[in-house]
Amino acid sequence: MANRRTGGPSKSQPSRPGSARVRSPSFGDVPPAPASSSAPPSSLDVAPHEAVTLKGIAGSPGVAVGPAMVIGDARASFARRHVRTSQIPAELERIKQAVSAAQKTLREVDTRMPPAMREASAILDAYQMMLADPTLHERIAHKLKVEKKCAEWAVSEAGEEIVALFDGAGERDIYILERRRDIEFVCDRLLRALLGNETRRTVRLDEPMIVVARDLSPADTASMVREPALAFVTCVGTRTSHTSIMARALEIPAVVGVADAIERIRTGDTLVVDGLTGQVFVHPSEEMIRDARNRSEQHLAFARRLLSARHKPCVTADGIRVELKANVELPAEAILAVDHGAQGIGLYRTEFLYIDRTTQPGEDEQYEVYRAIVEAVSPQPVTLRTFDIGGDKFASTFQLPAEMNPALGLRAVRLALKQPEVFLTQLRAMVRASAHGDVRIMIPMVATVHEMREARRLLGQATEQVKARGQAFEEHIPLGMMIEVPAAAVMADVFAREAEFFSLGTNDLVQYALAIDRASQSLAAQASPFDPAILRLIKFVTDAGNKSGCPVALCGAMASDPLAACLLVGLGLRELSMEAAAIPEIKEAVRRLTSAEAEAVAQRALACDSADAVEELLARELAPRLIDLLAGLADEAV
Ligand code: PEP
Ligand code: MG
Repeated sequence: MANRRTGGPSKSQPSRPGSARVRSPSFGDVPPAPASSSAPPSSLDVAPHEAVTLKGIAGSPGVAVGPAMVIGDARASFARRHVRTSQIPAELERIKQAVSAAQKTLREVDTRMPPAMREASAILDAYQMMLADPTLHERIAHKLKVEKKCAEWAVSEAGEEIVALFDGAGERDIYILERRRDIEFVCDRLLRALLGNETRRTVRLDEPMIVVARDLSPADTASMVREPALAFVTCVGTRTSHTSIMARALEIPAVVGVADAIERIRTGDTLVVDGLTGQVFVHPSEEMIRDARNRSEQHLAFARRLLSARHKPCVTADGIRVELKANVELPAEAILAVDHGAQGIGLYRTEFLYIDRTTQPGEDEQYEVYRAIVEAVSPQPVTLRTFDIGGDKFASTFQLPAEMNPALGLRAVRLALKQPEVFLTQLRAMVRASAHGDVRIMIPMVATVHEMREARRLLGQATEQVKARGQAFEEHIPLGMMIEVPAAAVMADVFAREAEFFSLGTNDLVQYALAIDRASQSLAAQASPFDPAILRLIKFVTDAGNKSGCPVALCGAMASDPLAACLLVGLGLRELSMEAAAIPEIKEAVRRLTSAEAEAVAQRALACDSADAVEELLARELAPRLIDLLAGLADEAV
């Protein structure tokens, strides 16, 4: 189906971080040269101006053209200098120092490793040995003494040459692939030590560029509010992963899940990033650039036209009201939400306050942030979700245990109840923010009634603490819950007595109901919110909520898909929350259908036997009327 929001995943697989790899590799341990190479060409093999198309997943709409900035790739960020003979001893000494510095860093990481991670400790030992491997050092010395290349250049080329020895030697052999990665890792460490940037840094751009990275941390992505990033390309990620969510919030085009982006793109390469189709063109021709610029113009003109209708009411063609609210990750987005016609904030993901920092945010700091958001959208309501740390949202200050399946582990409300003091600090800040507007509090990942009762008890305690200090607060703050665990969905009639509102989190509901990791690229196409199992869960929860007078909203990424939004209205939902930028087009989609038309399609979708059948139904029945919204371009340009 022609849906710009679900580009096909890239064929090649990313590495799984943390896979067990215990052995003692060395650089001498290189496979024999293959009889014939079946390796895919690297960008280095490609003629300078030959266009290469990389396929990923459309993470955020828009089209950008510009130079690439590959981050986290030390190989791309040093000057390639020739040295004089008299400088060689000094360069050799720099390499010696860099080896010691890199080994020291690895030792420090090792000492901080919890006992449960002894296996990873063995890998670090192996890396230490590799840093001192004679094969590597012979090659580096040759580059320096004979080819007169500076230390960084020598290390980089020596590493690339050793990696190249593996080319074609069983591309699918996991042992070979991991060995290549080990060598790349060790050379990267050495380069970073030479460049003196062992410490973690956030991205800093001096001119507008397209950021290419294996992955982007929330801090990196958030810094793009101030940085002139034209687009993002990442090796990992899916449409519901956090890089995509943040990119859409920042209205920056993004293509994610381009598994070979780092290998195929070098800093300075010209790129076209098409976030409407999920394609990246490396070294595009003049014609491709012209075409991309046209598409970008058309997309922007189309988005502007939709935005100009932001004050129209969101009602179906027969006058049924549907509330559209915004999902927010950064406080700055609250203003953007109002600008796009949001009727409040349906989800503020507070966990971003805790990520990428060395200390936890205190009560006053949190209060100021929540208050700013509440005041920015007042008198519209703000739903503050308590922290959803764990799973793919890692915050080092929580000292989470190493778990085999973090998405099924100590995450969200489970973690909050294990660390009640941290939870109470957040709840007090939220209670104080309630003095400044319409605040609701929402608990993520609830699976049992006990969790909801405990959360309510702690909210009561936090309120008493605020009261005892004489600080202002609102007497009744509605307490709701995310419905994102199948257990909560099938118990919705029971939970309707415990919660004052529901918000369906379909990103996780899909993950848990279909048992597909939401970050899995290989299964991204199967992780469909159109699966009838998901639609039936949504219908059950919506009916249970409506029957008991417990309002039901939906804040998963599917709400920002025009086809899905119409289907959700047909399933009975009357409140949707999404990234602010999607609100104008979803409003337009809702206004084009009557509720009876949406219900008729929803009834047929519930009777389908597969996600494909649902998508075919929607393509036939709804897509022709939404074709411009689906393409992100005006009708005449589609
Ligand atoms: C969801 O799971 O659908 C959701 C909105 O929460 P998050 O994406 O933050 O997990
Ligand atoms: Mg979730």
